[in-house]
Amino acid sequence: MAYEAPANVMISAEEIQQRVRELAVEIQRDYAADEQLHLVSVLKGGFIFLGDLVRAMHRPVSIDFMAVSSYAKGTTSSGEVRVLKDLDSGLDGRNVIIVEDIVDTGLTLSYLQEILHARSPKSLRTACLLSKPSRRAVEVKVDYIGFTIEDRFVVGYGLDYAEQYRNLPYLATLD
Ligand code: 5GP
Repeated sequence: MAYEAPANVMISAEEIQQRVRELAVEIQRDYAADEQLHLVSVLKGGFIFLGDLVRAMHRPVSIDFMAVSSYAKGTTSSGEVRVLKDLDSGLDGRNVIIVEDIVDTGLTLSYLQEILHARSPKSLRTACLLSKPSRRAVEVKVDYIGFTIEDRFVVGYGLDYAEQYRNLPYLATLD
């Protein structure tokens, strides 16, 4: 069967690249020039956002990855969060930025913020490429948001549907 990429583009590759560069400027402005940033990305959805974000930063950065499961296989949240892969190093005294693909109900992020906060970082902030505020089930603070979107299921730019479409350079809707 021929491969058909979703054609209903929600946010183009150019718009994403532009916004990610703006976010990098915003984030760097909030820290003293000599401060190292430690970016913690949430697999798998956050890997492309992290890759573009660090390349737009002009200062020392380090990265680490964590994997959690919050969604089962479908398109609705199960409400359960499990750590599948923990970070490689500690966060003590570091300026940590959680880099997430999307904040939907907020359950994943509030859980992450709680467990990472307990590891005594010097500071802890969160950057999300996308936010769906209408779906929020818990209040969660997101310091940097790329785009606020309506309640649609999106794929591309790291986001999947059943492990497909992560490689699209743009964001598309499936529903
Ligand atoms: P939350 O815990 O905020 O409900 O869900 C966060 C996670 O759900 C995200 O990291 C992402 O993996 C997944 N998710 C939420 N909305 C979408 C969406 O529209 N598309 C995709 N592909 N995943 C989503």
